[in-house]
Amino acid sequence: MTVALETARSLYPFVLTEEQEHLRREIRTFAATEIAPHVMTWDETGEFPLDVVRKLGAMGLLGILLPPDYGGAGLGYVDYVLAVEELSAVDGSLGLTVAAHNSLGTNHIFLAGNDAQKQKYLPQLASGKWLAAWGLTEPGSGSDAGNARTTAQRKGDCYVLNGNKTFITNGRYADVSVVIAVTDKSKGTHGLSAFVVEKGTKGFRPGKKENKLGLRASDTSELIFEDCEIPEENLLGSEGEGFIDAMRVLDGGRISIAALSLGIGRGALDASLKYVKERRQFGKAIAEFQGIQWKLADMATELDAARLLTQRAAILKDAGHRITRESSMAKLFASETAVHICNEAVQLFGGYGFIKDYPAEKFYRDVKLCTIGEGTSEIQRMVIAREILAVHPSRG
Ligand SMILES: Cc1cc2nc3c(=O)[nH]c(=O)nc-3n(C[C@H](O)[C@H](O)[C@H](O)COP(=O)(O)OP(=O)(O)OC[C@H]3O[C@@H](n4cnc5c(N)ncnc54)[C@H](O)[C@@H]3O)c2cc1C
Repeated sequence: MTVALETARSLYPFVLTEEQEHLRREIRTFAATEIAPHVMTWDETGEFPLDVVRKLGAMGLLGILLPPDYGGAGLGYVDYVLAVEELSAVDGSLGLTVAAHNSLGTNHIFLAGNDAQKQKYLPQLASGKWLAAWGLTEPGSGSDAGNARTTAQRKGDCYVLNGNKTFITNGRYADVSVVIAVTDKSKGTHGLSAFVVEKGTKGFRPGKKENKLGLRASDTSELIFEDCEIPEENLLGSEGEGFIDAMRVLDGGRISIAALSLGIGRGALDASLKYVKERRQFGKAIAEFQGIQWKLADMATELDAARLLTQRAAILKDAGHRITRESSMAKLFASETAVHICNEAVQLFGGYGFIKDYPAEKFYRDVKLCTIGEGTSEIQRMVIAREILAVHPSRG
């Protein structure tokens, strides 16, 4: 490594280490050979590529944030962002699958679970033998997630779950789902608790598989609980702490949606750069027109700005800081930026941007989820406003 690069790295921690470059190359090669040839088929059929997900597990990407003691790769959020971006540049569906598994389901167990729960679940999840889902959203409570209706009633040494979760990523395929349910309605958000529910538990089944606009190769399903009895050992953390822990989980999760946005935006920009050099109008490549060049310059600049916000959140998270404000800013900016970039990509492709033989339309469809999942852009603005007003209270 040159001295100049070393200096740059200490000044700008977002310059990648050799290990991170290696990780990026490994995922890029895998994505080019094992994912890219199939994305349009999976998109058309809505097929969930379970065999590829298992291979991602073998590569360590399903335990990327977990310590080696639990079979994880022991890496941080900076590496995680890199991995989700690389996968999502080729297929956002796999990016979302990996994100929901790592930073939602698995991370909730890591963050709130006791030793026995961690020993039981984390090694299986880290290896990719088991897949995780995380169920907060319900038909009647999305943005207002604290208003969940699914109940968990104490019965002897069990809890009995009743209710429905909706839009749950990996829902049909998850071996382990973390579910937020009401244990004491009188206490509002302090009456919500988190539970691990294993696949095959009596009274628990996935419901409708959603037929989606984009990210069609990710699984989005209902989770249905009908007098579903689970042992008290499956309570994660203490009773009443489920919602607070869920908000901590989302702080990390939102970084992964920012990374998903970066990947999809980069995929769209890369495809555009290639196309504008090939497509000729008025006797020259359209890349030669200043109007086209300015679009590309804006897309590249906006993407880099989004990457910097995302890496700032990841670096602070790895350093152990509370990152509610930074992760919401990264998620808000990266997702809105990526939607804009993908819209511009369709424009640059002209009529071919509207046609499934070309890549722009899929990026355009896939990217929209990024401004919705793990809190809409409106909710991110609420979170950011709350955070900055708390730091700078009005002096009245
Ligand atoms: C593909 C996909 C995957 C998902 N994966 C998961 C998952 O794995 N686990 C999980 O728990 N959930 C998941 N979700 C759910 C997702 O987090 C919610 O859809 C999202 O939080 C929005 O909730 P909602 O759909 O009920 O919209 P609503 O809350 O009904 O919002 C409707 C509109 O109102 C706006 N709005 C609401 N409240 C306010 C307010 N106070 N001020 C201003 N505007 C407001 C919203 O921003 C939005 O524009 C997923 C969703 C999708 C589509």
